[in-house]
Amino acid sequence: MFETLTQRLEQIFTNLRRRGKLTEQDVDAVMREVRLALLEADVHYSVVKDFVSRVRERAVGAEVSRALNPAQQVIKIVHEELIKTLGEPQWLNLTGPKPRALMLVGLQGSGKTTAAAKLARLLRSQGERVLLVAADPYRPAAVKQLQTLGEKVGVPVYYEEKVAPPLLCAKAYEHAQKGGYSVIIMDTAGRSQLDDALMAELKAITDKVSPADILLVVDSMIGQEALHVAQGFRQAVNLTGLIMTKMDGDSRGGAAISIRSVTGVPIKFLGTGEGIDALEVYDPSRLASRILG
Ligand code: GDP
Repeated sequence: MFETLTQRLEQIFTNLRRRGKLTEQDVDAVMREVRLALLEADVHYSVVKDFVSRVRERAVGAEVSRALNPAQQVIKIVHEELIKTLGEPQWLNLTGPKPRALMLVGLQGSGKTTAAAKLARLLRSQGERVLLVAADPYRPAAVKQLQTLGEKVGVPVYYEEKVAPPLLCAKAYEHAQKGGYSVIIMDTAGRSQLDDALMAELKAITDKVSPADILLVVDSMIGQEALHVAQGFRQAVNLTGLIMTKMDGDSRGGAAISIRSVTGVPIKFLGTGEGIDALEVYDPSRLASRILG
């Protein structure tokens, strides 16, 4: 595992026991470590550059508080700036005419189907009447997987064979309306890479159903590539939230900052395991601490 930023900065500051203000040289040495830590956490280099210059500006000449040593002081500034960049939590857009349609999009293997079931479970526990929609007819295994997960969380799954996803979603919505459901969660098809046919299909679904939320599911293990993926999906559909999955792995999830800061799409949930309850509601301070290690 990586050495934490705090440990690194404490080493740098071991010999800098002066009080008063941080000098520009102190800050230079420290900023190198901050930059490295963010790159190791998979924050995109273009985002790191801007971020570091903001932190530098605040850190140069910052009064060193009596309560904190210089390393802690810089960490505090980095942490505060990270929280600012990560953005305020925003809940799902669940108010308005029912049923609300949530749409999950993402590359194959990103954790979409799992996230759909996790979300269904969470919303059900909050008293919503949830219907899952298997809108990935190209992979029978994906439909089966959602059905199995749906059973596990006690949420029905809508599916019809040989019906194209836009029509399938429209029918599912109608079914939900008639059945008194309050939320439908559409698990859409993924591809191994960004492709035009997939984007056209996603767009066609949104034309039919007008989702209240379109959540992009991104595997945090893909690192710097995550920003490119988010930009690709954003060109096709109006993303309203991000779910970063596999945050229980080695990745620190810095890609979430890149996506948030470049695209403005708010982070909404983190997937933290294969289990059906391993879904965390996004909390900026907790995520900032994790990214810093
Ligand atoms: P999809 O192709 O996007 O629908 O992806 P799946 O939901 O099928 O997930 C792909 C694999 O990733 C499965 O083996 C899941 O169990 C696993 N997975 C999904 N989310 C997480 C997570 O947050 N943590 C871990 N460790 N594994 C996950």
